Amino acid sequence: MLKCNAVTELVTDYAEGALPFGTRLGVRFHLILCAMCRNYVDQVEKTRRLLRGRAMQPPHAEMEDRILATLAGRDQPAE
Ligand SMILES: [Zn+2]
Repeated sequence: MLKCNAVTELVTDYAEGALPFGTRLGVRFHLILCAMCRNYVDQVEKTRRLLRGRAMQPPHAEMEDRILATLAGRDQPAE
């Protein structure tokens, strides 16, 4: 059976579904028996969902204008 430190190292790949079948099965089996790792995986998955939601939002139009204006100002020589 996988130990907790091995499971925590595999959590990201587990959450992305990137683990080979046998390894994924080992992680799932560990999670059935270990509440601490189950909570950890749950937190990682919640964080990933939150970050994914934020990444898909386009920048606010006013903020985009301010960023562009700031960047345009940097190219001008200081007086
Ligand atoms: Zn564990």
